[in-house]
Amino acid sequence: MIMKYKEVIIGIGAGIIGYMAIIGIDILPFIFLIGFSAALYFIAGGQLIKVKNASVGENKKESFISFDDIGGQEVAKKELCEALDFIKCSDKIKALGIRPLKGILLSGSPGTGKTLLAKAAAQYTNSAFFSASGSEFVEMYVGVGAKRVRQLFDQARQSAKKLNKRSAVIFIDEIEVLGGKRGKNHSHQEHDQTLNELLVQMDGISSDEDIKILVIGATNRSDMLDSALMRPGRFDRVVKVDLPDKKGRAHILKLHTRNKPLAQDVDIVSIAKDTFGFSGAQLESVANEAAILAMREDSKVITSVHFKNAIEKVMMGEKLDRLPSSDEKKRIAVHESGHALVGELIFPNSVASVNVASRSNALGYVRNTQEDDMFLYTLDYLKGRISVSLAGAIAEDVILGSRSTGASSDFQHASDLARHIIFAGMSELGIISPEDLPKDKLHEAISSILSDVEESTMELLKKNMDILKRITDELLDKETLTGDELKTLINGKAA
Ligand code: ATP
Repeated sequence: MIMKYKEVIIGIGAGIIGYMAIIGIDILPFIFLIGFSAALYFIAGGQLIKVKNASVGENKKESFISFDDIGGQEVAKKELCEALDFIKCSDKIKALGIRPLKGILLSGSPGTGKTLLAKAAAQYTNSAFFSASGSEFVEMYVGVGAKRVRQLFDQARQSAKKLNKRSAVIFIDEIEVLGGKRGKNHSHQEHDQTLNELLVQMDGISSDEDIKILVIGATNRSDMLDSALMRPGRFDRVVKVDLPDKKGRAHILKLHTRNKPLAQDVDIVSIAKDTFGFSGAQLESVANEAAILAMREDSKVITSVHFKNAIEKVMMGEKLDRLPSSDEKKRIAVHESGHALVGELIFPNSVASVNVASRSNALGYVRNTQEDDMFLYTLDYLKGRISVSLAGAIAEDVILGSRSTGASSDFQHASDLARHIIFAGMSELGIISPEDLPKDKLHEAISSILSDVEESTMELLKKNMDILKRITDELLDKETLTGDELKTLINGKAA
């Protein structure tokens, strides 16, 4: 309609100016006036667009995610549901004089399903869902962030009303960007005002409102949050969203493969075993990549080989055509064989595969499998892991007589593990206070652990030199060895 009026007015204006020109009136001042007005209108229009964009948050009407669509995270789901029941039974809560639950903080590693949990929470409580990210509030100009927080709460209330819902869930991802400790930020005046506004808005939530608001924040740095935000009455529920364990990984894989044709040989439990440390997002990616690999091969079903390659792709990146020289390839094979042999000797059945095919993140690699998730580590376990890390460089030494730069990240990993031993009070220094330990003492203790383990690893590899050579040759020939092929080689039979 507005468009049509505009066209009619422009048409009439052009007609009048044309007529004035015909009857001999000087139309130049009029044209100048029109040009000037058009420029003013254009600038004002730009401003309008800016104001529109200044609002943050996105109403997700279409997201129907329920708790059944989220794999693993049983503890997080239970805790969240308990908290959400407060919103569902708001009348009972009001009768008992319980203050409403205003905020829930989901804290955990990236890709573990925090956004999914917030969406499922909105679904569970039949609320409108509104999402924004902490970084959307960050602005140089004082007051803009605070204005955006106000807008977000207003928009959530309005859209819940429009959707005929009695409550709204406001999800703020990366809340540490907006809710970090006050006074610590570079542009702290603006930052502090934004956080203060969030606190004010949360304090303003009451049980008498027509639309009940619940703020769900997500962060993977809960240590950075301002203590005022964590005070009871604001985010007084903190739900930990951890990386999934083996059972959780199997559940997530089942969810993400339910719409995919799987071959008979696909065993979800064994894929879950091979994906230790993967987040939900990485598991989703494994399922997707496996389907893409099947499509590339024109296969109608996804096989276990597709899954194996997909795990490697998600973990190590895309396979590259980059070809190292034959000397380099030999060195890489020796290095990886060293890791694999020591790994399998110290931790039987721990190697899933050894590879010398270059991927974007490595020239070669050993992929480990884990029977059970571990929560505590003994001194023997940590020393064993150091030995596996050092074994690559030591194998190069034993077979080729020299080391290369390829081992620097292994050494970093080994020193991190040694540091872990020292800080856990398991080194010769005994129980120590990490802050008071002088740097040179720490360095000495790390070197002592590393050189002890280096010596024992060197002995182990020298004792098993024939097997090491056999694995290297087989690896150069095949590029990839499975855990079973490796075990057969170690046991002395031909693979
Ligand atoms: P970030 O901290 O990086 O924002 P997040 O914890 O919010 O990550 P989500 O955005 O919820 O993670 O998850 C990303 C994707 O990963 C989801 O869309 C889903 O496909 C998959 N995913 C993650 N966790 C799970 C899970 N527990 N069950 C099923 N799928 C999951």
